Amino acid sequence: MVTRAFRLGSVESTSPSEESTAVTHPFLDLPPLTAERFAAIEDGVARLLDTRQDVLITQGEALLPLEGAIRAAAGPGTVALNVITGPYGQTFGGWLRDAGATVHDLSVPFHTAVSAEQVREAFAEHPDIDFVSLVHAEAATGNTNPVAEIGEAVRAQGALFYLDAVASVGAEPVLPDAWGVDLCVIGAQKAMGGPAGVSAISVSERAWARMAANPNAPRRSYLSLLDWKERWTDAGRKALPHAPAQLEMLALEACLERIESAGLETVMARHRRAALATRAGAVALGAGLEPYVHEERHAAPVATTLRAPSAAAASDLVARALAADPGLPLAAGGGALAKEMIRVNHYGPDATGDAVHRALDALGAALAELGLPADPAAARRAAAGAWR
Ligand SMILES: *Cc1c(COP(=O)(O)O)cnc(C)c1O
Repeated sequence: MVTRAFRLGSVESTSPSEESTAVTHPFLDLPPLTAERFAAIEDGVARLLDTRQDVLITQGEALLPLEGAIRAAAGPGTVALNVITGPYGQTFGGWLRDAGATVHDLSVPFHTAVSAEQVREAFAEHPDIDFVSLVHAEAATGNTNPVAEIGEAVRAQGALFYLDAVASVGAEPVLPDAWGVDLCVIGAQKAMGGPAGVSAISVSERAWARMAANPNAPRRSYLSLLDWKERWTDAGRKALPHAPAQLEMLALEACLERIESAGLETVMARHRRAALATRAGAVALGAGLEPYVHEERHAAPVATTLRAPSAAAASDLVARALAADPGLPLAAGGGALAKEMIRVNHYGPDATGDAVHRALDALGAALAELGLPADPAAARRAAAGAWR
């Protein structure tokens, strides 16, 4: 779509070749994004999270608010419980220690989820815990944690509750107010089916107070949430402190509108079905493929992880499947998990029965190539049955 919008040529222009016209580009020649529109997009995020807390849209990938919130809310006086159910939990522990906090790690095997009981036990052991960091769902390991129940325990403890909901939002309920989450970070690029490079955080009054009291909280910094509060939210959201990342904002706006028009319940149901179908289909495929997360209730709706049979490396199976169909939502596990874990990233536009069927078919063919006969017909039947 190229339109001739401006005519900059002067009347003296005589020949058509001298006529100077500027050609507008749909991505480049955008009118400035107004503060009003930016605020409306924030309100769209607040509706998505069903929250009355302040919502900030952070102009960068989710790591920006994830790191910004820890550095603002935690410091040398903080005693943190850092729950590790996957790689992001490990990262948060590093930031917390770096901020000077005393950190108690609660690690659970990546094939399961943490329980509220385990969190309560940690509080009993360390009664001075005043900060809890948790990842809701881990796309990298395929598990999801019972945040509502954990939230009750955290409230009873009176600790500040920090949640990474990047991989859960859009795939399963994320309700910071109902669950007592003080800092809830989301990103648009997973189950929301939106753009990468933009994220958001909801911040409770308690969390703002903790940050304001922290002399080490980033201020006049790209990482600073307090700057946004002061210059934008508290100033009535009338003037943007910086030029907004326009393309990302427009894409986020479109993504929120698409979710609202489809209905969040419908979008979440597609993810839940894709997860159930992948799980059932993989078991029926046979050849030793099995769900990586043992219990279905611990399995994240956003993505399903599978354990490769011992006779085949996961990375090899994925490479063969992708060679046959490069568009499949398949990846091998990261780092040390590359040998044993297959990730089926059935999120966003891939939360469909078709994407699941094609992924299972391709994995079946890859297993057969390695002399591990699978049953794709049974996988299709099981997946279709589970989708219903
Ligand atoms: C994908 C993901 C992130 C990182 O999001 P970026 O926008 O890529 O920084 C963080 N946490 C979890 C749980 C994720 O799945």
